[in-house]
Amino acid sequence: SLKGKTAVITGSNSGIGLGVARELAKAGADVVLNSFTDRDEDHKLAEDLGAELGVTARYIKADMSKGDECRALIEQAGRCDILVNNAGIQHVAPIDQFPGDKWDAIIAINMNSNFHTMAAALPKMREAGWGRVVNVASAHGLTASPFKAAYVAAKHGVVGMTKTVALETAEEPITCNAICPGYVLTPLVEAQIPDTMKEYDMSREDVVRNVLLARQPSKNFATTEQIGGTAVFLCSDAAAQITGTTISVDGGWTAL
Ligand code: NAD
Repeated sequence: SLKGKTAVITGSNSGIGLGVARELAKAGADVVLNSFTDRDEDHKLAEDLGAELGVTARYIKADMSKGDECRALIEQAGRCDILVNNAGIQHVAPIDQFPGDKWDAIIAINMNSNFHTMAAALPKMREAGWGRVVNVASAHGLTASPFKAAYVAAKHGVVGMTKTVALETAEEPITCNAICPGYVLTPLVEAQIPDTMKEYDMSREDVVRNVLLARQPSKNFATTEQIGGTAVFLCSDAAAQITGTTISVDGGWTAL
C-alpha cells in the first residue's frame, strides 16, 4: 500500500496524468493534481477524487513550461515521495516548417520540466528515506516518427535523464524509471488526428488504423488505467531494484 506517501503528478487534470493519479490514489497515496489552468473545475476534480477514493487530493497550479513554477509545485506540495512527470504537449509538422515557438514549448514542457521537478524533489525523497520517480516518456522516447522532431527529441531526452538520475540515486532507496506508452486515446491524441489527416490526406478511420496504430501491433489503444497500473507497480516493493530503465506499454510497437 502507498498509504502515507504523497504523489505529485504533473499535468494531471486530464488523460494519462489523471489516470495515473487515480491508480496511485486507489493504492492509498495522497495525490497532488496539477495543470496550468487553475479553474474551479480543476480544484473540484481533486476534491471529488479525494472523496471517492478516501485519500487527500489537492490541486496546485503550476505552468510546466516555466522552471521556477516547476520547482514551486514541488515546494508547495510539502512532501513528494512519488514524482510522476507527465505534463506534455504535441505538435505535428515537417522540420522545415516546424514553428520555433512550438519547438521551444515542447522542449520546455515535455523535457526541461522533468529536470526542474526532479532537482526539487530528490532532496525531499532523501530526507524521507524513500522515493520513486516515474517519468512518462513515450514509444517516441525509443523510436521516431516523421513530423514529430520536437516531441521525439524531448522524449529521448527524458529517457536519457531518467538513466542519469537512476545512477545518481543508485545506492539510495530511490528509483527513477520511464514508462513508454504507445498510443493512448486521450485529448492529446484526439487533437493530432486532424493535422495527421492533412499530412497524409487520409480519412479519420484510416489515420487511426493505418497511421496511429500502424506501428502498434495489438491494434488497440493502451488505456490510462494501464499506464496508472504500471506506475503503481514501479512504486511497489517488487520494483525496488528496477531503476534507470524503460517499461513499454505499447502493444508491441517497440518489438517491431
Ligand atoms: P493530455 O493532453 O490529455 O494531457 C496533458 C496534460 O498536461 C494535461 O493535464 C494538461 O493540463 C497538462 N499540461 C499541458 N501543458 C501544461 C503546462 N504548460 N503546465 C502544466 N500542465 C500542462 O495528454 P496525454 O495523452 O494524457 O499525455 C500525457 C503524457 O503522456 C504526455 O507527456 C504525453 O507526451 C505522454 N504520452 C501520451 C501518449 C498518448 O498516446 N496519449 C503516448 C505516449 C506518451
